[in-house]
Parts: sequence; C-alpha cells; structure tokens
Amino acid sequence: MNTRQDDIPLFRDHPALKKCFPLVSLAVLPTPVERLEHIGSRLRIGNLYIKRDDLTGAVYGGNKVRKLEFILGHVLQTRSREVMTVGFAGSNHALATAIYANQVGLKSTSLLMPQANACYVRRNLLAGYYYGARLCHYKTLEHLCIGIIGQHMRGIATNGAVTTFIPAGGSCPLGILGYVNAAMELKDQILAGQLPEPDLLYVPLGSMGTSAGLILGFKAVGLKTKVCPIRVIEESMASPKQMLRLIRDTAKLLHVSDSTFPRVDISENDLNIRNDFLGEGYARFSEKGVHAAALLKQEANIVFNGTYSAKALSALVDDARKELLTGKTVLFWNTYNSRDLSAATGNVDYHDLPKAFYRYFQEDVQPLDRTSCANHEGI
Ligand SMILES: *Cc1c(COP(=O)(O)O)cnc(C)c1O
Repeated sequence: MNTRQDDIPLFRDHPALKKCFPLVSLAVLPTPVERLEHIGSRLRIGNLYIKRDDLTGAVYGGNKVRKLEFILGHVLQTRSREVMTVGFAGSNHALATAIYANQVGLKSTSLLMPQANACYVRRNLLAGYYYGARLCHYKTLEHLCIGIIGQHMRGIATNGAVTTFIPAGGSCPLGILGYVNAAMELKDQILAGQLPEPDLLYVPLGSMGTSAGLILGFKAVGLKTKVCPIRVIEESMASPKQMLRLIRDTAKLLHVSDSTFPRVDISENDLNIRNDFLGEGYARFSEKGVHAAALLKQEANIVFNGTYSAKALSALVDDARKELLTGKTVLFWNTYNSRDLSAATGNVDYHDLPKAFYRYFQEDVQPLDRTSCANHEGI
C-alpha cells in the first residue's frame, strides 16, 4: 500500500484518527477545482467552479471512491475477504465496489434491484461483471433483505468466510469520513487561492453520504459554504431524519476517536434538501436535467449522468435563470465518473450475466436517454 494517507487533511489535522481508521489508498487526491468561466458568465453567475470528483480514481472516478478508501481499508484489517453491497441495477456504487475490491484482493457480491433502463445501466452491469463481482438480481427491497441473509449464510457455508456488508452508496459513518476529508481538502484549495470560498455548493443527494460529509466537514473547519443537496431519490429512501442521524453518528465517531475534532451541532435547518428536481423518480431522467446536461456538454465538454449529476445541475441552472446566483460564487460538485470503461465493457457479452439482467440489453432505454449507447458517454 502506498503512504498517501499521511497527507490527507483529516489525518494531518487530527493525527489520532489515523490509527483508528486505516484507509487503503485508492484515490488520486486532491481532485482539481476548475473555473467554468464561459458558462458561468452565460448563466450570469458571479463565479462558477466545478470540483472534479469525476477524477477521484485512475480506473474509475466519481464520489464512491473516497468512501471506499475508508470502508475497504477497514475490511482489510479484519479477517473478512469478501464484501457485499446493494443498489439498483445501474448502481455506480456497486460498480466502484466491484472495481476497488478487486484491486485490493477482496471478492465482491452486488445485490441489485430493478430500475429504469439507461445506457449507463448496461455499461455498469458489464463492467461489474468484468471486474469479478457476483451480480444477483432481487425484485423488491423485501426480497433483497432476505437475500442479504441468504448470501451471508452462503458465504459461511461455502468457505467459512465472513462477508462484510457495505450499505447502499457506501453511506455509513466510515464511508462519510471520505467526504469530511473532502470538505477539508476544499478548504485547503480555498486557502491556496484556487477559488474563493463558495457561497453555494450543488451536489446530488442519493444515499446522502456525500452531502452529509460535506455539511459536517464545512461546519468543522468553519467554512460558510451552504450545501444544496438536490434530491434524486424518493424520500422513503433518503429522509432528512436519516440524514441527520448519519451526520450525528459520523460527528460522534470523529470526536470520540480524536477529541481535537470539534464537536459540531447540526440541525435539520442545516440540511437544505431541495426536493423539486427529482422529476418522475429515481433514475427517471428529467427534461430539465437533460437540457442542463446538454448545455454543459456543449460549453465545457463535461459528461453528466441523468440519474444524478444532471438533476443537480438542473437545479443550479434553474436558480441561475431566476437570477438567484448573480454575484455569487457557486461550486458544482461533480460526482459522476468520467473515466472510460469501454476496455472493460467491450470484453463482456451480456449473455454472461445472470438472465434477470438481459432485459436491460433487450429492452429500449428510456426515451430521454438519447445519447447513443455505443459512444460510452454519460447521461
Ligand atoms: C451515488 C451517487 C451520488 C449520490 O451520492 P450519495 O453520497 O449517495 O448521496 C451522486 N452522483 C453520482 C454520480 C453517484 O453515483
């Protein structure tokens, strides 16, 4: 393993944490911050910046890599040599887990539920298989819960192995540490003059770990940046109450592990969840999202994902059009991988997957997912 953990801001500022949380180095950090001058002035935003978490990993980027450094680092300290996680069929988290578990020598299983079809669902399924994940289909959440127990039993029965369960999106306190660190990384970049302190930060809200870590981290380091989590999943899966609990559990974990980490008090008023850009539901692309993504693709050549980042971007564009962002410094936190997976996906035939996944290849993608599935591009 390499020694990059020596210089992550979280451990630099709170050295006792390093002993409690052995991370495995997967990410290339810090990720760049870039100014989007042209599109910013077109939208009449004072200053528009993007945080390039699409580049967190050399093989596969996106926001799950920072979480997995802590989660897989922990697993490697235990006797467990197998991880299991859950998500929807096109889950970026399941794919990131497959890729990085494989990289550090752990087996992985993904328990996946049905979702609306899109090109990226096909890509992620093929890539997950390529990187050695066992892919299992579950029709409903109830089936999946029973499946988790079944998979555990199977692991014990077949090789006596202990399987570590990773929650959806890697959004447990351990994973969230990755985004507390990311908040501190941004503060370093502000202090280094790479961008002014943002007034507002736009980020998609899925399993809530990314927003939770940023909110907690900003508060801990005294940044005033207001995080605007844009809901991309139904409230039954991601409620303010659950989010507050995640933040408080993470804050407690940090303070108990290293008392130099400040006690922070977060209330529901700090969450600012925006519910009006979900459209028809999780993984159902929205017109606004698709338009916003097309605008940025054309102006800045950035690829967006219709389930996540395009919806968060549509909130930013909408606010700009209402002139709410005039004179403001705005940061868009890009959570979607931009590394090319075609070398992996080109090596797999969908017939190699379990039959339940064939439908994503045999049925059309949803009408708003117009981008050709062949060009390996986002949305
Ligand atoms: C998982 C994911 C999110 C949501 O992040 P959470 O930490 O789950 O809230 C946002 N964007 C992309 C591209 C993702 O894959």
